[in-house]
Amino acid sequence: MGENRNKIKKKYICKLCGEEYDYDKMSDEHYPAKSVGNDDIGDFDITKLFDLMMSDHFRKETIEKIKNREEFQNIYDEVFDSQLFKSIYPKGRTARTLCQKCNTFFGKYDEAYLRFFNADGNPQKIKGFTKETKYKIIKSIYAKFLSIPEAKEEKFDFIEFIKDSSSIDYNGIWKLYLIKRDHTSDLLGLKDIRTGKLIFDEGVVYEFSDEKFIFNLMNFKIHSCFKMTDIFEILNKNFVLTEGVDESGGYHGQLMIQRLFSSMNIDDSKNN
Ligand SMILES: [Zn+2]
Repeated sequence: MGENRNKIKKKYICKLCGEEYDYDKMSDEHYPAKSVGNDDIGDFDITKLFDLMMSDHFRKETIEKIKNREEFQNIYDEVFDSQLFKSIYPKGRTARTLCQKCNTFFGKYDEAYLRFFNADGNPQKIKGFTKETKYKIIKSIYAKFLSIPEAKEEKFDFIEFIKDSSSIDYNGIWKLYLIKRDHTSDLLGLKDIRTGKLIFDEGVVYEFSDEKFIFNLMNFKIHSCFKMTDIFEILNKNFVLTEGVDESGGYHGQLMIQRLFSSMNIDDSKNN
């Protein structure tokens, strides 16, 4: 109850127009958009998976089921639903970061992005899109980073670029790269769409993803050992879409490991 009262009193600053609003004039921005896999999502519990794999009881039980000719897929689905997924965001992942006007404005960008998503980012299909649509796709993704919790305190220099739907110039410091997900980026095919932040000597990397793509926004040039597609390349005919991550796991792999260790630390402190 106290929390609700605070919500009402507090003023919210829209991340796009910078104006101050009451709670009810703000809107819930979906990141990623609802239509690209952000609806009634759960959170994949990676520590739990490792615990299960190490557990004798679980192993015996699974072997027993296999002996009884239960389909592997059924066993897997059951474990997945009952143990590994926590439904944390029944309405999808949202943040109250934009005013209603700016949220509506971004709707146009999200429509363009949905076309990219539905075309699987296939360069053959994307080259048929108008330049305007391609810019909307680019801006749609930059815009999403305004709403991820990890970037709450960040001052981005691309606000003017995304605020103006006709602008085609962005010369700021934030580079945006993407990969298409595949079995190399997703452990057991589980598509983790959590957001994240990595800190390097060179700068920071933010991550945002949906069911098909992983995006990294960073304020330095991508490490040469990681292969990703610069989002501005979609403006070129026959751009190359990077699929999956290399053996290093890329930034996405580093984030997964970071999460694994941080969840282990939390468990440790509980025991103490
Ligand atoms: Zn606004």
